[in-house]
Amino acid sequence: MEQKKLIIAIDGYSSTGKSTVSRTLAARLGYAYIDTGAMYRTVTLRAMREGILRDGRVDEERLARVLETITLEFKNGEMYLDGENVEKEIRGLAVSGNVSAIATLAPVRAALVDKQREMGRAGGVVMDGRDIGSVVFPRADVKFFLTATPETRARRRHEEMTAKGERVSLEEVEANVRQRDHVDSSRAIGPLTKTPDAIEIDTSHSTIEEEVEHMLTAIRHASRD
Ligand code: C5P
Repeated sequence: MEQKKLIIAIDGYSSTGKSTVSRTLAARLGYAYIDTGAMYRTVTLRAMREGILRDGRVDEERLARVLETITLEFKNGEMYLDGENVEKEIRGLAVSGNVSAIATLAPVRAALVDKQREMGRAGGVVMDGRDIGSVVFPRADVKFFLTATPETRARRRHEEMTAKGERVSLEEVEANVRQRDHVDSSRAIGPLTKTPDAIEIDTSHSTIEEEVEHMLTAIRHASRD
């Protein structure tokens, strides 16, 4: 009998190790991995390049045109904007500092939620973000919610960025993490929330392998029901 292809939703705060865990889980299941944060980051990058976003203010009319014409694709796990590989650029501090402002806008969320539903509809996906279990796929087969202390998350993100050659202080990174937590949890549309049916995993003191095993066990249970 063919195994049912599930929709796995993974939400949580930034730098909880969400994308590494999601990518590893997807590989173990033979599923596609969709990093919705990368999609918000890429819209932000294009808005910045076009000068639509200046000093935190957005030209909404021009942004609407961007949303109609933008092409977002994942190829070999990397993000492409209109055919260009932008994987490195979207992870930098410039995009990180602007992404929450773009992600609070209703037209941006509507356009990206549509694309995400389209990408995940057939199942066989692990999708990570902030609103996957609450808005994008409220009927996902299994939902996880990842947490970790802000200090742990800032340290991880700082290590990640310096490894890539970005020169940034731990204090700057921690300020950005806390700022994004605040904006992501308090926005009106699609705020970061744990739905009652999501399984919470605190990643402060566990390894990726332990988290993935924990998730695989929960998924096996769910697919038996
Ligand atoms: O996951 P990542 O930290 O790369 O996401 C970057 C930003 O994109 C988040 O801080 C949040 O503002 C936004 N985001 C969102 N909804 C999602 C995924 C990301 O608002 N589903």
